Amino acid sequence: MTVSSQGTPRDAAPESAAAEVAGPRLRAVLEDIPAYVPGRPAADRADGRAVYKLSSNENPYPPLPGVLEAVVGAAGAFNRYPDMTAGALLAELAAHFEVPVSHLATGTGSVGVAQQLLQATAGPGDEVIYAWRSFEAYPIITRISGATSVQVPLTDGEEHDLDAMAEAITDRTRLIFLCTPNNPTGTALGHAELTRFLDRVPRDVLVVIDEAYREFVRDDAAADGIALYRDRPNVCVLRTFSKAYGLAGLRVGFAVAHEPVAAALRKTAVPFGVSQIAQNAAIASLRAEPALLERVAALVAERTRVTRGLRDQGWTVPESQANFVWLRLGADTARFAAACEEAGVMVRPFGGEGVRITVAEPEANDVVLATAAAFRDLAST
Ligand SMILES: *Cc1c(COP(=O)(O)O)cnc(C)c1O
Repeated sequence: MTVSSQGTPRDAAPESAAAEVAGPRLRAVLEDIPAYVPGRPAADRADGRAVYKLSSNENPYPPLPGVLEAVVGAAGAFNRYPDMTAGALLAELAAHFEVPVSHLATGTGSVGVAQQLLQATAGPGDEVIYAWRSFEAYPIITRISGATSVQVPLTDGEEHDLDAMAEAITDRTRLIFLCTPNNPTGTALGHAELTRFLDRVPRDVLVVIDEAYREFVRDDAAADGIALYRDRPNVCVLRTFSKAYGLAGLRVGFAVAHEPVAAALRKTAVPFGVSQIAQNAAIASLRAEPALLERVAALVAERTRVTRGLRDQGWTVPESQANFVWLRLGADTARFAAACEEAGVMVRPFGGEGVRITVAEPEANDVVLATAAAFRDLAST
């Protein structure tokens, strides 16, 4: 027993029978945590036809030029811990985004960074606001923190309802997630409307702008998180190497935020969480910008083609600024997902709501368009 313990010595307390049976005490919040549903993998088919995984918004391309070499180079030294400060990567990011190194923090994917932000801001009794439906990690990591989720429904146009979100702020609000473009609906927040929203948020509430798909945005009026963070100490921007950069399997993301938020992220980080392989791959990826932009442009062109194709078939498709499209299928969701699987594309169904379909290589997108057309024909007969 430590001198400072406030607890009652166990020997003095009779063991409850329940504690004997139940095993170690786990936090009650774990009991009703929603499970993160990973996108289903593309299993091989008996007839040898291709199967495409369009369920996790991954990048269909092989590593960018120089990235595999950087990974192999770092692989020979994985008996050593990585650079805990990710110094070389932070220096590269600071130059790339024109922000001070002290305003940057890395983590195990931007989901890891988001969880650190909750650890730094919220606990039992506190509230976390986000749009719904939005990124499925938000309810999970909020629950783990002990804080309460306040979910604000999307508008009929599948966009954040910023007025309703502003009205949902109370004295208990500690953090607000804004996902732009929004996963899974693809819609982006406008810069002007987001600026007006930020003007309404109390300065002691952290606003996290999750820009996992920022590289795919083509709407000039869309919000620019890094521009908005610059003169707002309560704004934090999350970015990731998992989507456009194609490093989903290496787990590296980062935040751009003022002190003391960035400092809090350094305190809440799992020590050595981001491997040296991931750090080196991220640096090489940033240096391969011309190839990155080319690939992103090709995916954006495919997004336009898929959106037009679906609309021509009569589907309602929200304007996506990301590398996926959203179909609100309601009760048809599971049937549509099954039809896609049958045709060789794995999509991401959200039970009873809709299907998110990653835009990938043209052959995969062709299968989506053909399947969607057949599904409509079937539905209309
Ligand atoms: C994919 C995604 C992330 C990034 O996940 P990583 O942990 O960086 O792989 C973050 N936010 C949203 C909205 C996403 O869709």
